Amino acid sequence: MSEIWAYIEQDKGEPKKISLEMATLAKRLADQSGATAAAVIIGPGARAAAEKVGAYGVTKAYAKEDAKYGEYVITPQAHLLANLIREKKPSLVLVGSTASGRDIAARTAARLKLGILANVVDVGLEGGKARVVAPAFGGNIEVSAALVNQETEIITVRPNAVMPVKAAGQVQIEDVSTDVGAESLLAKITERVSQETGKIPIEEAQFIVSGGRGVGGPESFQMLYDLANALGGAVGASRAAVDAGWIAYPHQVGQTGKTVKPVVYIACGISGAIQHKVGMQTSDVIVAINKNADAPIFQFADFGVVGDLFQIVPKLTEEVKKRKK
Ligand SMILES: Cc1cc2nc3c(=O)[nH]c(=O)nc-3n(C[C@H](O)[C@H](O)[C@H](O)COP(=O)(O)OP(=O)(O)OC[C@H]3O[C@@H](n4cnc5c(N)ncnc54)[C@H](O)[C@@H]3O)c2cc1C
Repeated sequence: MSEIWAYIEQDKGEPKKISLEMATLAKRLADQSGATAAAVIIGPGARAAAEKVGAYGVTKAYAKEDAKYGEYVITPQAHLLANLIREKKPSLVLVGSTASGRDIAARTAARLKLGILANVVDVGLEGGKARVVAPAFGGNIEVSAALVNQETEIITVRPNAVMPVKAAGQVQIEDVSTDVGAESLLAKITERVSQETGKIPIEEAQFIVSGGRGVGGPESFQMLYDLANALGGAVGASRAAVDAGWIAYPHQVGQTGKTVKPVVYIACGISGAIQHKVGMQTSDVIVAINKNADAPIFQFADFGVVGDLFQIVPKLTEEVKKRKK
């Protein structure tokens, strides 16, 4: 194998957690195959981000600092990644399966007329090629898959499928001279609006307090925020709560939401449907609060409290605050 690339998502030089996961995975596969683990970082802050992902074992970084890549939506990044792949011919390109990662990987693959392995949870090597594991049918079965006859394999990896691990070493940064043409500059970002400033995104939180239909309405979510704030964590939700309009979609955990892997996941008034379970089952510790002792969530929770969340959650918050003093 030649080079194994980790596509890095970053904001003003700060790599996102998913990028540290991709760098860790690239390093692991490079160690197994004798290939070079490299990062590709596009947009303002690329060089600063390269130094930071270097701490996770990539020894090479292709950095494109150009501000225009931060000003336009997705297409220039995808087109530049495609041009770079054509030029450098890496063996593997690992992209986080985030909203923008999925977009970039799919557009890149389409431009290069390559197949793609999407939304995988594990990547191994077999005979010098990648072999992946991907959940299917809502996590009820696992598919093992590989691409055939492709010089470069593009793979999108679910967030939290890999634990970021620091590794000693030096990263050599190469400035990218390749560029894209005006045809890539299609949609420009005119304004950025943060939905909730100062809040931790659920995919990066160590503690998640998640609410379902049992929470009963948008006002009651405040109770969950109080507990999450006391723990220094974030608030998640089931699709039922999101569909009801009680909380915004970025909080949704599950098959059609996000995959999370916090240290503690507290599910409040969530039944534990398979589509919810696939998004949180790898949490280190799962705590379920549900008034129905037969709720499926108790079958896979580490700790279960059978009772009314409206009584239990405020008491839990009080107790956490008391112990923090
Ligand atoms: C293709 C597809 C994709 C899907 N994707 C997702 C997804 O990404 N994420 C997701 O979550 N779902 C997803 N779903 C929906 C999923 O099947 C369930 O319908 C959903 O997870 C149920 O949400 P819930 O547990 O909040 O609600 P319910 O199943 O209605 O459960 C509510 C729970 O609250 C308990 N409760 C009620 N009041 C209280 C109280 N006062 N105190 C304590 N407990 C109480 C009840 O006992 C019950 O167990 C998907 C479904 C499909 C078909």
